[in-house]
Amino acid sequence: MNFEQLKAAVASGETDTVLVCMVDMQGRLMGKRFHAGHFVAGAWEETHCCNYLLATDLEMSTPEGFEATSWEKGYGDYVMKPDLTTLRPVPWLEGTVMVLCDVLDHHTHEPVPHSPRAMLKSQVARLAEMGFDAMMATELEFFLFEKSFDEIRKGGFRDLTPISGYNEDYNIFQTTKEEHVMRPVRNHLWNAGIPIENSKGEAEAGQEELNIKYAAALDTADYHSIAKHAVKEIAWQQGHAVSFLPKWSHDMVGSSSHVHQSLWKDGKPAFFDPDADLGMSDLMKNYVAGLLKYAPDYTYFLAPYINSYKRFMKGTFAPTRIVWSVDNRTAGFRLCGDGSKAIRIECRIGGSDLNPYLAMAGMLAAGIAGIEEGLELQPPTKGDVYQGETGFIPGTLGEARAALRDSTLMRAAFGDKVVEHYCRAAEVEIEEFARVVTDWEIARGFERA
Ligand code: ADP
Repeated sequence: MNFEQLKAAVASGETDTVLVCMVDMQGRLMGKRFHAGHFVAGAWEETHCCNYLLATDLEMSTPEGFEATSWEKGYGDYVMKPDLTTLRPVPWLEGTVMVLCDVLDHHTHEPVPHSPRAMLKSQVARLAEMGFDAMMATELEFFLFEKSFDEIRKGGFRDLTPISGYNEDYNIFQTTKEEHVMRPVRNHLWNAGIPIENSKGEAEAGQEELNIKYAAALDTADYHSIAKHAVKEIAWQQGHAVSFLPKWSHDMVGSSSHVHQSLWKDGKPAFFDPDADLGMSDLMKNYVAGLLKYAPDYTYFLAPYINSYKRFMKGTFAPTRIVWSVDNRTAGFRLCGDGSKAIRIECRIGGSDLNPYLAMAGMLAAGIAGIEEGLELQPPTKGDVYQGETGFIPGTLGEARAALRDSTLMRAAFGDKVVEHYCRAAEVEIEEFARVVTDWEIARGFERA
């Protein structure tokens, strides 16, 4: 949808509401609902939001220790600058369209460096200077539940019954029972201009996966954020809860967000060399070697919460080790489409809670370093990768935070202040978790300790 089409839709009364959204550190859409008349009359140029939106946690608290903003600094404003190329209808809400914004400094109008969209744009720009485009796809896995968000919350998050009673991997009969949610998800997103490929049942009761066609990295991140938001809203409209928490039950497998990546030059896949082993070009080998070498440095961006690390368990299809392998789902990195133009590397480390802008920005920074350093790629690992003894993914949020903090690469790519901002965000999660007493401790020790 372009601005002229929006103006016509507002004039005819077809559209009355514009959702003006930014993406926060958690990957959520935050913003305001504009009357469409006011938006087309002038608000399309810019609006404002409180700058705590990029220094908060999942619960919207105001933790101390962020240099960018604080009580001390008075929590001022950021500019939200609508990116009109992202204007699109929101077909699951009546009379509504949406636009995503870049977040700018209130005074200088420069991009806020720790804004997720700005971080991804900066790495895409570096690649463009090298003559490459990043084509990416992020998968969305999540669970659907029988009850609604409100019922589950009011019940203290106890009755978490998935919508199906058994593993529904590729299962057409079971997913037919979920079509009242998933069909509108596919169709509404398609009509919002998001190139949905398919949805399928996943390898656990109540678990679904949504696949979106690969696109330029920034578009992919926008698609992911909007699709995740749509899944929540459409499930809510149908009276069901949906969860993107990576591991909501230790007895069940978790939810991931695999990221498929390839570099292109002049519209052609630059990762493909028909004469090379497996069809992997030298460029691809360098890029993948960078992804592997620096994986601990960016793991925080793939796994940002305490819970994220509960997913990395042997034998669950979630990886435990930083190795690459050919079409092997036990490795952190899986080569897909070998020997063909569709050749790409899939990173399987990310959980369903990742922020796609940060995840892709971190991985692009690592891949670029692999190219710049001319890194050599070791041969692929074969067999059951779970059995190895080396190269483990950081095992806790604390380890991932330390790797980010100590990463000269991430500091060079994003700047010290940005790295410190996200290290503080990780630390807030760790402090908060350390403070609370969990159900597990009570059940284990209440009587027996
Ligand atoms: P999986 O078996 O891991 O679920 P799928 O085949 O479902 O993988 O998903 C493949 C994803 O990879 C799709 O989103 C698709 O658009 C994307 N993809 C295909 N070709 C490329 C490419 N060259 N670069 C990046 N992503 C790609």
